[in-house]
Amino acid sequence: MMIHRQKTARRIFERWYNDSATNPQTMTPKKFHKKFPSVHQINSSCAIDMACPACGNRGPFFVEVKTFVELTDEDGYGPADRFEELEGSMVECGQCGSQGSDFLIEGLDEHLSKIAEKTARKTAKRQA
Ligand SMILES: [Zn+2]
Repeated sequence: MMIHRQKTARRIFERWYNDSATNPQTMTPKKFHKKFPSVHQINSSCAIDMACPACGNRGPFFVEVKTFVELTDEDGYGPADRFEELEGSMVECGQCGSQGSDFLIEGLDEHLSKIAEKTARKTAKRQA
């Protein structure tokens, strides 16, 4: 499950990264921090570099996928036990409900990590 989610996130990343190359309006890590200075959450796994460009939420997100559900005569539909990402999947913010395909901000977590390190150094200096 975890590996599948990482692969899905990776594909989303690659598609959005390619989109951002042709779309100069795409959010950058610096623009994100300027718009949401209070967002400090650093993602390091399945949702790395993902954030809602409308509210700054770092997760959870809902990703449009194609699911396979078992159907039996007796019980009807069972739980979805496997899924595939669709080409051009939409993402929905789990906080504000905003939808789009621009939730990937390449380099965001690295940028936020650097800001956190800088802040920690300043705090340590002040206390010394
Ligand atoms: Zn949002």
